Amino acid sequence: MLIKKTILIASISKIKQLRKQDMSTATLVEGIFEGNKAILARAITLLESSKPEHFEKANAIIEKCLVKPVKSIRIGITGVPGVGKSSFIEVFGKTLTDLGKKVAVLAVDPTSTLSKGSILGDKTRMETLAKDPNAFIRPSPSGESLGGVARKTRESIIFCEAAGYDVILVETVGVGQSETVVHSMVDFFLLLKLSGAGDELQGIKRGIMEMADAIAINKADGDNLKRAKLAETEFARALHLYPPKENGWTPKVLSCSATENNGIIEIWKMIQDFIAQNLENGHFEKNREIQNKNWFLQAVDEQIKQLFHQKKSFKTMQQKMLTAVGQNKISPFYAAKTLLDNIAKELK
Ligand code: GDP
Repeated sequence: MLIKKTILIASISKIKQLRKQDMSTATLVEGIFEGNKAILARAITLLESSKPEHFEKANAIIEKCLVKPVKSIRIGITGVPGVGKSSFIEVFGKTLTDLGKKVAVLAVDPTSTLSKGSILGDKTRMETLAKDPNAFIRPSPSGESLGGVARKTRESIIFCEAAGYDVILVETVGVGQSETVVHSMVDFFLLLKLSGAGDELQGIKRGIMEMADAIAINKADGDNLKRAKLAETEFARALHLYPPKENGWTPKVLSCSATENNGIIEIWKMIQDFIAQNLENGHFEKNREIQNKNWFLQAVDEQIKQLFHQKKSFKTMQQKMLTAVGQNKISPFYAAKTLLDNIAKELK
């Protein structure tokens, strides 16, 4: 008993010590590789920081993490508030940890800067999963732009994978472009829906059906069960109208109940089928490669913009051109070209 208490005190003081110290990159990398949750959380905090020295350190850690070979599955989960995302993730995550998996839950919530956020804001969500030693839950990073939030989440995925998490769940709400952003960072995209009174197909944002690899009709329980089954048929019919996916996968429709833990394992089995099929036909790797290349191109675009806005002389030139365009003295296209020619001259 006394020994246990001493060990506990020692480990608490070690954690406190770790918190106080400005950990070296090597210590952080070591901690991540050991699967230390506190260190993983600290590394993610570095990613989210706006301090240049933290940015440098985070990048050094990413570099080390990238060389570690990992096999993971990244799953995006979306649905309107109230559909049952957190209830679903709680029971789905627990199913996976019971199967011996390590599960990380991240979120992309573009509203988190303005309000407290729609998802993962309060600690009461996913209470059981949060206590599971094989689960790691991190709320959405805040950021002025969705691009910034996306970058931080993508890099958090790399850290989580290096820490041994083999299933990464990325949750998002249907706000703005957040679904597209999450779709561009995952292997499998799951849309959670509710059955309604015959209007299942209404109110779905354009493009979201096309992105979904599966639709799960949640709350298929009690009085709702019959309606959920009807919705299943209706969605399945609607999905058939879309052109087949390049990877050969036919999107599936299932129903589930997060509160009654029904249909959850079936969703996992379906995802495993998807992964197996995509690994075999080469689309798994191909998709990740395309995602990485797109991410790089986006990053280049963003950094060019940043570079432009940071330089005062460029802004002055732009202002001059803007006035000239406003007065119809120069065509917008020619003005843009002249501006860029001038910038190129200044950069030489
Ligand atoms: P989120 O906003 O999408 O994360 O939704 P929540 O997980 O917070 O769920 C919203 C409400 O729906 C809560 O009151 C849940 O208890 C309830 N709920 C979630 N899943 C189910 C389900 O499968 N069946 C039923 N009957 N209620 C559910």
